[in-house]
Amino acid sequence: MGKLAYKRVVLKISGEGLCRPDTTGIDAEELERIAAEIKTIVDEGVELALVVGGGNIVRGGDLAKRINIPAASAHYMGMLGTVINALAVQEVLESLGIDTRVQSAISVSRVAEDFVRRRAIRHLEKGRVVIFGGGTGNPFVTTDTCAALRASEIGADVLFKATKVDGVYTADPMVDPTAKRHEWMTYNDFIDGRLKVMDLTAVVMCQENGIPVVVFNVKQTGNMLRVVRGEHVGTHVGETVGS
Ligand code: UDP
Repeated sequence: MGKLAYKRVVLKISGEGLCRPDTTGIDAEELERIAAEIKTIVDEGVELALVVGGGNIVRGGDLAKRINIPAASAHYMGMLGTVINALAVQEVLESLGIDTRVQSAISVSRVAEDFVRRRAIRHLEKGRVVIFGGGTGNPFVTTDTCAALRASEIGADVLFKATKVDGVYTADPMVDPTAKRHEWMTYNDFIDGRLKVMDLTAVVMCQENGIPVVVFNVKQTGNMLRVVRGEHVGTHVGETVGS
């Protein structure tokens, strides 16, 4: 075990991190790949809580536009999708010998514990990976906000926002070849830029509670471990540049 830059970490994995580009559902290889990455930081001694998205199954906002159901119901469907992903992540982590607990913000007591803050902290102290499903339990927000909320509640040192790009760029690197990656950003730059990387509510909550955010490419093997060892990977977001 090396020296850790962060002891307690909340890692937000989007639903798209569990499937191949432009597909939906859960892909076995992607799931196993991300689990192997997670194992590297658990083995390093990090106390890890995961917040799992559900965009690979249902995005409430999109669904409500396509079919005639109330938006709130569509969002609840989205939250249930995150529970499905949480169970998949749990099983594959357990198959790697990692002790886990799923806690859901929506009661699904046959398959997961209810979210109980103090219990979640206890699991972390015992070295279990806690997987938060069900988002915040409330419609009209996203799992990014859930990640910021849980990070604040459990006293995390950092929020890792796993993405499929190398960080936050000055422009869309797919469209503009001169786009450059920001190594550092302040919360205010992030908020003023209305960046799509993470929703504003989440960033504001991190700012208010002093939780630094690291945005990095989770599809690149070894990145997660590099970040917890204190290497500068991706874009770091804090109160000031370099904080
Ligand atoms: N969702 C919600 N409340 C929450 C978290 C999620 O209503 O606290 C719903 C929302 O409809 C969202 C869907 O669940 O579109 C899936 O979550 P998200 O879009 O955050 O997943 P990701 O994009 O990270 O895969």
